Amino acid sequence: QENTFQTIISHAKEYGFVFPSSEIYDGLSAVYDYGPYGSELKKNIRDYWWKSMTQMHDNIVGLDAAIFMHPTTWKASGHVDSFSDPMIDNKDSNKRYRVDHLIEGFADKLTEKGEKERADKLVEEMNQLLAKEDFASLKDLIVTNNIKCEVSGTTNWTDIRQFNLMFKTEIGSVADATNTLYLRPETAQGIFVNFLNVQKSARMKIPFGIAQTGKAFRNEIVARQFIFRMREFEQMEMQFFVRPGTELEWFEKWKTERLAWHQSLGIPAEKEHFLPHIKLAHYANAAVDIEYEFSFGFKELEGIHSRTDFDLKRHQEFSGKKMMYFDPEINQSYIPYVIETSIGLDRMFLAILSNAYEEQTINKEDGSTDSRVVLHISPKISPIKLAIFPLTKKDGLPEIAKGILDDCKRSFRCYYEEKDAIGKRYRRQDAIGTPFCITIDHQTKEDNMVTIRHRDSMTQERIAIADIKKIILAEII
Ligand code: ATP
Repeated sequence: QENTFQTIISHAKEYGFVFPSSEIYDGLSAVYDYGPYGSELKKNIRDYWWKSMTQMHDNIVGLDAAIFMHPTTWKASGHVDSFSDPMIDNKDSNKRYRVDHLIEGFADKLTEKGEKERADKLVEEMNQLLAKEDFASLKDLIVTNNIKCEVSGTTNWTDIRQFNLMFKTEIGSVADATNTLYLRPETAQGIFVNFLNVQKSARMKIPFGIAQTGKAFRNEIVARQFIFRMREFEQMEMQFFVRPGTELEWFEKWKTERLAWHQSLGIPAEKEHFLPHIKLAHYANAAVDIEYEFSFGFKELEGIHSRTDFDLKRHQEFSGKKMMYFDPEINQSYIPYVIETSIGLDRMFLAILSNAYEEQTINKEDGSTDSRVVLHISPKISPIKLAIFPLTKKDGLPEIAKGILDDCKRSFRCYYEEKDAIGKRYRRQDAIGTPFCITIDHQTKEDNMVTIRHRDSMTQERIAIADIKKIILAEII
């Protein structure tokens, strides 16, 4: 499993999807850069989300709020006081751990040893102590289980402390407390503080939604698993404002719709499930995660939360500005309730890549075998849609191929290549997930037709040059 994951990380680097940030300086922990194909794939997932959410819903509009926000925003939202994780340091190894991750690690060790019951009991006990914030008992739990699980022979731990995950910076030149700003840890608050601006300017009537994509920052204590848990990442969030009392109906609707969205990108049903939150956040009256089965287990990709009127109410309280909506249908003013769908773009990217990756053995006609690495990425979001190959560099074939390129590149991303044997060119496109390759050969000069090769089936057929654009467009929209 660890192997599979390492293979994907290496593939992502070798083929220009994801690089460690500032790699020439040995990288920056849990920060990554997206390369030529990665930035295309990421943009395509974002655009696909944006289109599904806004263009396809008459009652959802977009927003692009700033990363910097007035510091009171984060007092009102509760992030200053409670956006923190309990952590503990091991004094011998100088390693810092998130308490829940550490204890879950012990539980995994116990499960490996065949002591599943004890592992479950440990996690249950941890959850109870975390809920009570009983840090002394949690520390005892760590000390005793650390020895039992033989993670490290030491019992030399610090006390458990709360660690706020927000990054701080300063605005302007005078460094006093009033100048402290936070890098937003979620995009949602930009939507809440703009609720009335959007509602009035776009003349929205409840129920309606506001969608936004953008960077968020969290100083994760232990950042691991590649782009699964990053310190700088991107969210795609939508807040849907509804009449109080109708929120649970909308919660169910959005659950169904969001799962269908994942499946429309080719994630198989058995690879995802809903995980209801057992312990609800104080502001929520229902919450569920959509989890994807990575090689390291089922993990959260998206959260769907019924957040009641908590956020708008708090902003009303802290700003002194009314956050009420007048509902002409029932002739009443109220603070709307909110259903939120919040998905990590980078995590979706990782799920897409993990799901797409296949090392295939190919049985050839002459009885021998060959192999290829192929990314089965949905044509809707693949970085390159069409690769165009003249069979040879001469006899006017490149001219015909470049004519096709000039025509097609206005409509979608193409790739032109005239070097190397055709087989090798196909393999390179397979490895970055290009769904279609066309080859221009000598016959093309006679009949104005080209050979199109389909990535997944590797089947080939002759099509007219005049039909290329139409065929590709039908697959990518
Ligand atoms: P986790 O429990 O994994 O820390 P969370 O429950 O704190 O996640 P939310 O606050 O609900 O996450 O954020 C919404 C989405 O943002 C998550 O479903 C996830 O896809 C994404 N996300 C959150 N933290 C990170 C991170 N550090 N790196 C990448 N994506 C993240």
